[in-house]
Amino acid sequence: MMEKKVLMKEVNKCPLCGSSERKKLYDSNINDFDTKDFKITDSQYGKHWTFFKCKSCGFVYSNPTPTKELLEKIYSSIEDPDYDSEEEGRSDNFKRILKRIKKIKNSGTLLDVGAATGIFMKLAKERGFEVEGIEPSLWAAKKAEEKYGFKIHNTTFENFETDKKYDIITMLDLIEHVENPLEILKKANSLLNKNGLLVLVTPDIDSLLRKITGSRWWHFRPPHVNFFNIKSLKFALNKEGFEIISIKPYHWKFSLYYLISRFNIGRKIYDKIRVLKRISEKIKIKLFLFDSVEVYARKKDN
Ligand SMILES: [Zn+2]
Repeated sequence: MMEKKVLMKEVNKCPLCGSSERKKLYDSNINDFDTKDFKITDSQYGKHWTFFKCKSCGFVYSNPTPTKELLEKIYSSIEDPDYDSEEEGRSDNFKRILKRIKKIKNSGTLLDVGAATGIFMKLAKERGFEVEGIEPSLWAAKKAEEKYGFKIHNTTFENFETDKKYDIITMLDLIEHVENPLEILKKANSLLNKNGLLVLVTPDIDSLLRKITGSRWWHFRPPHVNFFNIKSLKFALNKEGFEIISIKPYHWKFSLYYLISRFNIGRKIYDKIRVLKRISEKIKIKLFLFDSVEVYARKKDN
């Protein structure tokens, strides 16, 4: 367990627009945490920080928030074997995104930020892109090298240094994990070539599903420290020099096993009846939750 107090910091105004007009959404229900709470596939749904919603731009942010230093420490040490076992389902999500990217930019250099074990990079390479990836988890970066031979930049995007520029930057489920999203978008903009394309996937805090499930929404998990809605996404992208091409709902595709094993009761059943695991691993489910968004944005001319 870590000492929470010294690793958290107060946020007195909206990190996006600077307004101090806000209302509290939820009080934190996280008491202690350690690195296993920060896996990509972690199943601590409904566990969240104390969140405030900005009355001006609609951004939802944690306050107090885990510091950048704490997040870096956590992400560099995570190991997550479950992530890879869902390669097929994830691949389908990623193929759809690549199809949309190709309609906008058919080829070029692509930097995947938060590359995890390299599945998206592999698919992008197969489709003719020249790929690079950044991933802070040493475990995931090694996995990407073992499986696909990728030399991943084993660092955070904040600490990544390069003289290169890219045609496309992808951040699939990344921006809700970082302390300062504007800094991330600014850096992405500076690393893109003229007319460069930025692709983001992130949960939508104002989606119908979130409104129905309230504080028990499945995107409320310890690694998620801030949340966008469409309005705040547009605001942030515009502020950091991007023009939105399209915003689309993101579909999730997982195996039945993966979905059920997210719940304690499900894991108990699978431990007792092994054959159910094998069968349900084969059943793929497409979830039309519409509670995440996919954003395609172009770097504006300065
Ligand atoms: Zn705001």
